[in-house]
Amino acid sequence: MRLVMLGPPGAGKGTQAFELSQILAIPQLSTGDMLRAAVAEGTAVGRHAAEIMAQGDLVPDPLVLEVIAERIAQPDARRGFILDGFPRTVGQAESLDKILNGHKLNCVLELKVDERQLLHRILGRAKQALANGEAVRTDDNEDALGARLMAYVNQTKPLTDYYRARGLLRTVDASLPIDRVTAELVEAVREQNIEVGRH
Ligand code: AMP
Repeated sequence: MRLVMLGPPGAGKGTQAFELSQILAIPQLSTGDMLRAAVAEGTAVGRHAAEIMAQGDLVPDPLVLEVIAERIAQPDARRGFILDGFPRTVGQAESLDKILNGHKLNCVLELKVDERQLLHRILGRAKQALANGEAVRTDDNEDALGARLMAYVNQTKPLTDYYRARGLLRTVDASLPIDRVTAELVEAVREQNIEVGRH
């Protein structure tokens, strides 16, 4: 099962991708987590990406493609995976098709939430991290969120048309409680698979 999660920052992609990965027993592949790990380790990719990420802009495709292609090639991803935060542009979606090398995606899950709720969630996440004594993400602040939302609307949102045209898109109301959203996503994946099976 090969799934993609789409949605603006704060929509709950990471949370829901984790829940689905447990239910479906396939790994969650988050390019944001991979890039943050590269920054923390101080690798060449990390050094290049750190400032761009802190500003809320998209990291250049070659760097992202390098980390994701390597991860998809790992043995645990052979049975499938949930892509969380990739692709984020139509160009990346085209590159993904090449990386998949003839394997097809089963479903693209779009999480929809209104913008005011997003800011509330992101600032809540930053507060929670502080309260837990954890590091706050460098891009979990109002300035970077503006850039991240712009990047989403201008560069990522067009992907919904790309995947709708391929019959893969399922949209779920992500303003609902976490477990309701998870249940709707599981249902969407199931329905989509039945339809895929019919072709
Ligand atoms: P996320 O954890 O998905 O919110 O991603 C955090 C940041 O990592 C984004 O704001 C981008 O700077 C960078 N990033 C993650 N995934 C991608 C991607 N597919 N393409 C470009 N930049 C990305």
